[in-house]
Amino acid sequence: MPPVEAYLADEAATVAFAERLGQALGAYVHRAEQALVVFLEGDLGAGKTTSTRGLLQAFGHSGPVKSPTYTLVEPYEFASAQVYHFDLYRLGDPEELEYMGIRDYFTAQSICVVEWPSRGEGVLPEADLRLQVTTEAPGRRAKVEACSSVGVTVLNEMSSTV
Ligand code: ADP
Ligand code: MG
Repeated sequence: MPPVEAYLADEAATVAFAERLGQALGAYVHRAEQALVVFLEGDLGAGKTTSTRGLLQAFGHSGPVKSPTYTLVEPYEFASAQVYHFDLYRLGDPEELEYMGIRDYFTAQSICVVEWPSRGEGVLPEADLRLQVTTEAPGRRAKVEACSSVGVTVLNEMSSTV
């Protein structure tokens, strides 16, 4: 399955692109036997949190999304799924994730969206999907890759939408 890629001309395009990913995750999550894990990669200011907002919008969330920089995780509860938004930018040691009880978040019917996943390497579960955002002035380029068979199914669903 090739990556799904797009040039995103403005913030609204980033939100809309990630909303498609959210919709595809939402279509699959009731069948999931494990948490669906999405890694968000890119420099500071690339658009990871903006993408999280788009993803959450697919589930009906409409407010702002603040990065849980100090609390590490922000939960969002929807009828169809729990979405956990992690921001590991300030994580000192991956072991801190054990202390915060990270395993409790990675349950079936949950979707874990993780900014700065490299900070949690070794403790964080493997990703099903990776969304990479890079600056391509004046906008952004986004690429979604599948990293598991579940990820392939979700990405297929996403690529069938426009
Ligand atoms: P990160 O979480 O990766 O650090 P944020 O999502 O917090 O980044 O911030 C991204 C910034 O880039 C915001 O100011 C947002 O308005 C802007 N932005 C997002 N997508 C685009 C885009 N496609 N084109 C231009 N600016 C964008
Ligand atoms: Mg962020």
